[in-house]
Formats: sequence, structure tokens, C-alpha cells
Amino acid sequence: MNSYLIRNVSVLGAAPTDLLIRDGVVAETGAGLSAPDATVIGADGLVALPGLVDLHTHLREPGREDAETVETGSRAAALGGYTAVCAMANTSPVADTAGVVEQVWRLGREAGLVDVQPIGAVTVGLAGERLAELGAMAESAARVRIFSDDGHCVADPRLMRRALEYVKAFDGIIAQHAEEPRLTEGAQMHEGEVSTRLGLTGWPAVAEEAIIARDVLLAEHVGSRLHICHVSTAGSVEVLRHAKARGVRVTAEVTPHHLLLTDTRAESYDPVFKVNPPLRTATDIAALRAALVDGVIDIIATDHAPHAVEDKECEWAYARPGMLGLETALSIALDVLGPQWDLIAERMSRTPARIAGLTEHGHAPAPGTPATLTLVDPAARRVIEPAELASRSRNTPYARMTLPGRIVATFLRGEATVLDGKAVK
Ligand SMILES: [Zn+2]
Repeated sequence: MNSYLIRNVSVLGAAPTDLLIRDGVVAETGAGLSAPDATVIGADGLVALPGLVDLHTHLREPGREDAETVETGSRAAALGGYTAVCAMANTSPVADTAGVVEQVWRLGREAGLVDVQPIGAVTVGLAGERLAELGAMAESAARVRIFSDDGHCVADPRLMRRALEYVKAFDGIIAQHAEEPRLTEGAQMHEGEVSTRLGLTGWPAVAEEAIIARDVLLAEHVGSRLHICHVSTAGSVEVLRHAKARGVRVTAEVTPHHLLLTDTRAESYDPVFKVNPPLRTATDIAALRAALVDGVIDIIATDHAPHAVEDKECEWAYARPGMLGLETALSIALDVLGPQWDLIAERMSRTPARIAGLTEHGHAPAPGTPATLTLVDPAARRVIEPAELASRSRNTPYARMTLPGRIVATFLRGEATVLDGKAVK
């Protein structure tokens, strides 16, 4: 194994120190360390964070390898500072059996760039009719703990209750894509002033809020763990605040794009801005940002959703919803939160690692911890060029925008996956 001596790095914004990485762990920290056998990395001005953990990534393999593979998505993740991603189940075939989740898990190990933790489907084929083999997926080599029909809502309350009851036995989590489908039929964007003006069918905030309200009550009734994917409205924040005050075991995520972009982007009719749940209003963004700071929203998750050109560069109505996120998430967090390094580490590494049960992740670099970390240059600014992204797809909503921060290096258990801002393999 390689050894690395990182010189003058600021751990979570603290005074600069040296970090010696050896045998997969942070072996030593302190000023003026020496290690003749180690590769030296000058880190003046750089900040070390625990490797980021994404609870919501679409890797598209198996089935849509033209949009992304486990390997290309893993590389995009490492370049974004991630060391672990949870892969959503809406692949083809759907990850609703032990066989498919083991396949994704094995592909992740072969790529070796980040830890890929598969999420299992809640229902067979994401069809919302009967429970998938949750127990078999939990007992498989992939040891699935989070289940989600993401892309679809588990709309049937009886099925949702049974899923919550089932995973309680192994302290599993149901991650809900909160969308009452009867309220969003034909929806193209957020329902509001802009959708009225553009004449597009709206996706009302209440379709999200009603499901979250129902599910926090179900989770409380059953005593199970519930996670809410991509919270997008101010009303959802209020429902979650209420539930958390009651002690319901619920956690919630917000995406970078819902923290930054509003529904006015639809005025361009550029389908790169079509996403589910849709971009909302400035009022929603303000509530989401406040909730991220005060902890009602626990984490930032990317909902990285690569799409092939033909699925995205077409008329708005026919375009698939979703946008890339892994390679830009830290920059958006830095833009939104500023250099609050401990908060960023909490929301993007420590808490998502804890929710997913990824015990090797989420540790601030200190002697004896796994050397699973990322180095950020907060002073750098970069222009996002879609063609330069490592993802196999190009649907970033930040094309040609200038964003703060750049990932300089990422380490997974002591092995560099990114050096000098470039993927090592
Ligand atoms: Zn979703």
C-alpha cells in the first residue's frame, strides 16, 4: 500500500497540520512529520473533510449503461469528494432481489473508487403492488438496509405500513419518494405562478407534504425508521419539524439543486431543468436552507440522475426528469453554506454515513481513523463544462456557471482515488 504525507492541511477549518496516511489509516497527525517513504502532497490552503457519503445516487447499471455505469458513476463520485454512494433501485432489471443488489455491490467493489451500497426496491418491479424480497436482500452479500421505490412513491398506505413493519426486525429504513400520484398526473413543473404563465401542468407542493404527513404518522405508529428523499417544499419542512418534535424516527434529505435553483428556470424550456420533485420557489429555497442549518433536514443527497442525450435533449414534455449532481454537490454546499466545514461534514458525510450504517465513513481525519477523506481547495473557482465531467451523461444544470471550490484529492481507506483533481484510475 502507498503511504502519503499531506503537508499543512486544515482539518475541518482548524489550524494547518500534517497528516500521515499509512496502511489504510491516518497513522499520525501533527506539525513537521517526516516519512521518507511517503508520497508528499503539499496542501497549503486546502481543507480536509471526511469522505462524502451520498444517500441517493442513480448509477443506471444494470440496464442503462449508455447513461452511466457503476464504474463511471463511481469515478464521478470520487471526483466530487465522495467515498461512498447508495445506489438507487430503479435499474433494469429493478434491484428487487438478492441477485441484482449483489451484482451492483460486486460491480462497485470491482471499480474500487467508492464504496457502492445498494438500496433495494420496496415493491416488486417498483410497481407498488407487493413487497419485494426485503429479507433476502438484507441477508445478501450486499447487506441492504435502505429500501426505496425512488422514482415512484409507495402510495398504498397499507403496503407502506407493511414495509415499515418488515424492516423493523433488522433496523432497516424505508426511504420514501413522497409524491401522491393522483395529485401529480401529467405534471411538468412546480404548480404556481410560473406554471400558470407557461401553461404547463403543475406538481403541487401538497402532493409531497400529504405523503410525508401520512408516512411520519405511520412510522410513529409502527416505531420504524423512515427517510424522506429530496424534500423540496417549505410545507414539508414544517411537517418534518412537527414529527421530529414528537420523536418520530424520521430523517430527511435535500438536493443541491433544490437549495439553489427555482422554478423560473422552466421559462427557458431547457429540459436540463426538469426534475422530480420539480424546482420550487425562492420561499421554498429559504425554508430548505434554514432547515438544513437547524437540522430539521439531516443531510444533503445528490439525487444524481444521469440521462442519455435522447432522453434529455428533446421537448420539455418528453424529457426524463433528473440532473447530475455528484461532481458539483460540494461546490453548491459551499456556495449555500459558506465555509462552515463542520456543518458541511455533518450534512454530507457524518450523518449520511450514520443513517446508512456505513461505519467506516464519516470520521474526521484523526490518528487511527480510516484514511477515507477528501481534500478541498475552497479558494478555487471553476467553470462547469459538461464535456469535462466524468459522468457518462451531460445533464448538469450548472453548465457554464462559475462555482466555488474544487476537489484536489480523495482517499478511500488510504488509497488515492483522486490526485491533483484527476481520477487515479
Ligand atoms: Zn425520487
